[in-house]
Amino acid sequence: MNPIDRRTFIKLVGTSAALGMAGFPFIARGGAKTKVVVVGGGYGGAIAAKYLRLYDPGIEVTLINRDKQYVSCPLSNEILSGERSMASLTFRYDGLAGHGVRVVHDEVTDIDAAKKKVKTAGGQTFDYDMAVVSPGVGFKWGAIEGYDEAASRYMPHAWFAGEQTVALRKQLESMRDGGKVFIVAPPNPFKCPPGPYERAAQIAHYLKHHKPKSTVTIMDWKDNFSKKALFEQGWEMHYPGMIHWVMAAEDGKVVGVDAKKRILMTEFEEYEADVANVIPPQKAGVIAERAGLTDDSGWCPVNQRDFESTLHKDVFVIGDACIAGAMPKSGYAANSQGKVAAAAIAARASGKTLPEPSYVNTCYSLITPHHGISVAGVYRLVDGRITGVKGAGGVSPLDASPQDREAEATYALGWYRNVTADMFT
Ligand code: FAD
Repeated sequence: MNPIDRRTFIKLVGTSAALGMAGFPFIARGGAKTKVVVVGGGYGGAIAAKYLRLYDPGIEVTLINRDKQYVSCPLSNEILSGERSMASLTFRYDGLAGHGVRVVHDEVTDIDAAKKKVKTAGGQTFDYDMAVVSPGVGFKWGAIEGYDEAASRYMPHAWFAGEQTVALRKQLESMRDGGKVFIVAPPNPFKCPPGPYERAAQIAHYLKHHKPKSTVTIMDWKDNFSKKALFEQGWEMHYPGMIHWVMAAEDGKVVGVDAKKRILMTEFEEYEADVANVIPPQKAGVIAERAGLTDDSGWCPVNQRDFESTLHKDVFVIGDACIAGAMPKSGYAANSQGKVAAAAIAARASGKTLPEPSYVNTCYSLITPHHGISVAGVYRLVDGRITGVKGAGGVSPLDASPQDREAEATYALGWYRNVTADMFT
């Protein structure tokens, strides 16, 4: 970003923050409390739950998340380079309870939008006046022939941070020097557009220091990708000749696998991998589909002003699962959407109207621990669609100095500390 862009960026983000802090003073209300159930406690849901309580402590908020701990995908590629511990990615929900959020650990199995009830595998039922749904993505198992949940034991996707990330790391550790690592990159839209390309760099970082004769090949369903020029420059600078990208037009699209034999099949070729990381095509998380919140695209259409589902009234879908115009599927986007949805719900609960929102996103990627790059965007509603504001945001310049790259790597860690503190404290 040039200095003018950065100023515009900060000004616009300031508008967004002001919407949250000043637009909705705490509201004292008589009568029954508004009940909100939040499904999913990740980058979107945890924020929506907390900010609902901050905007209006009169609202009764129940957050239902499957697991007792949340493992962050952002920075999880560093597990593969060996630069990060799982502990630094793992969070508990006690901080949210401290804000008065009732936290329940259970699997949501049904959202009955007509009766306004959420049911769980543990047999619990929760009534709601309004619900927030932020379940993240699900996989289109079988879209790559032979790649299903069982196959992911042999060819980990590592696209939900946790066991799968550790499994992929272990495979890299046991691989011979001179081994061939393959990453299968999915079609758009998918969670974290720069993620597979950052992952290639993080894997190469480990291989360079431990198995330098090895290679990383990205087989892509696409002909382009986020921050491409910056990634290619970083790969060549730090891992010369080690990372190869095969685009769809050059037969990069993997259409089938033999997981046990670690074979990848494109339309014309077969490749034998020593380690294969298959990131499959994606859709909204299973519960969104089951609740009738998805359309033919597999994602959830929403009113992009406040994230209320266009299919079910009083259900707000945020984060990776929703269709959010020009915003990418990222943790920071989910955070921004969570705040807008919480503000909209608080406004509705007190009979007010949500002012015009603005939205923000920044995605950092680490090529090495000292080389960071980023893409940032500020968004406004134009004709009902979330649209990038011209001149605000942008990508890191290609001719940045090593000091600037180092600074961006530091900002990446600062961003992570801030965003996770925002979610869990
Ligand atoms: P999630 O954060 O996935 O949260 C969903 C939660 O809902 C989970 O806890 C899940 O267990 C729970 N859940 C789902 N279904 C149910 C159910 N039926 N019942 C109960 N609970 C349920 N984004 C960035 O901004 N910056 C980055 O640097 C970045 N790096 C990434 C790197 C990788 C390798 C990956 C894979 C992603 C990265 N992302 C990054 C993207 C980011 O992780 C997602 O965009 C973000 O997590 C989306 O938030 P969400 O709330 O939609 O879903």
